[in-house]
Amino acid sequence: MSQRPYNFSAGPAALPEEVLHQAAAEMLDWHGSGMGVMEMSHRGREFMSIAEAAEADLRELLAVPANFRILFMQGGGLAENAIVPMNLSRGEQADFVITGSWSQKSAKEALRYCDAKVIASNAEGGHLTMPDPAGWALRPGARYVHVCTNETIHGVEFQALPDLKALGSDAALVIDCSSHILSRTIDWSKVGLAFAGAQKNIGPAGVTIVIVREDLLGHALAICPSAFDYKTVADNASMYNTPPTYGIYIAGLVFQWVKRQGGVAEMERRAVEKAELLYGYLDGEGAGCYVNRIDPACRSRMNVPFQLRDESRNEAFLAGAKARGLLQLKGHKSVGGMRASIYNAMPLAGVQALVAYLREFANAPL
Ligand SMILES: *Cc1c(COP(=O)(O)O)cnc(C)c1O
Repeated sequence: MSQRPYNFSAGPAALPEEVLHQAAAEMLDWHGSGMGVMEMSHRGREFMSIAEAAEADLRELLAVPANFRILFMQGGGLAENAIVPMNLSRGEQADFVITGSWSQKSAKEALRYCDAKVIASNAEGGHLTMPDPAGWALRPGARYVHVCTNETIHGVEFQALPDLKALGSDAALVIDCSSHILSRTIDWSKVGLAFAGAQKNIGPAGVTIVIVREDLLGHALAICPSAFDYKTVADNASMYNTPPTYGIYIAGLVFQWVKRQGGVAEMERRAVEKAELLYGYLDGEGAGCYVNRIDPACRSRMNVPFQLRDESRNEAFLAGAKARGLLQLKGHKSVGGMRASIYNAMPLAGVQALVAYLREFANAPL
């Protein structure tokens, strides 16, 4: 059993311990090549095999159809906020659904490249509910509709993807799934493009995964840097510029780990189990001491923000958690309170340890 503390960081976040051990064992000599992965040419046989396996495993895990391309890019989620409009908007309309900080940032950045418009928002009341797709003011001319499917800071998550076709729209759905990719299946029939920074649920910061339908390629604005033109990246199998090789390698190890655990279906089963345990305690026995105000219908399975009813005890709470090996529970500064991020790499035992501490702290005399 692990002696390491449980790390509830929102990102960069904990990785499966098995993966870290494997990476450590292969650090100086990958598979008898005499080289560490960081020291290999990205065009050499060894690294090409690592990248090809990572892509194939991700395609299998998420059941990505053949008419979608998988790209390994750099720049993170925030760069995608510019790269997506540069590639997909053609300088025309793009619609945004605001559900929290991340979608807000996306809409703001897109304004630099296209006619970006907020067509639905849950800002009123503080991002505690999900705007019902039936009420979205979709524009008929929009090239795409952007949603953040899991708001890492505000802790709201789409439990199903909106069906734009059924809503009468031909726009491509763009999903920022950075903080819950590989924790649930994706219905690709509803999606045009998905992107995810790796550092939440996949691997180290520095790799960004883009999964894009082929017919959306080839329409980049003239100002788009070549290295960020999806078609250029796709035509060069993500090797137009030097890709983040070590990050891709670790992502590949994580994909293999997810496969060994039973795939995305098993990750989802575990995510539900962990989330139910934690929310169940907060709403039930712990409700006198803690509060989570988010509508239960759209609570995130990955990021669980909560507050102490007596916020003067925040520092004591965090110090006690740290002393018990429960790390990085402090909430994002824009929301305050606490946040437990319980991504794929967080074992059930970690959430059980957290709940045991929540109970102990709630029952401790002041
Ligand atoms: C973390 C995160 C990002 C930002 O990623 P960077 O790598 O910092 O650019 C974008 N979207 C979501 C939903 C995130 O959780």
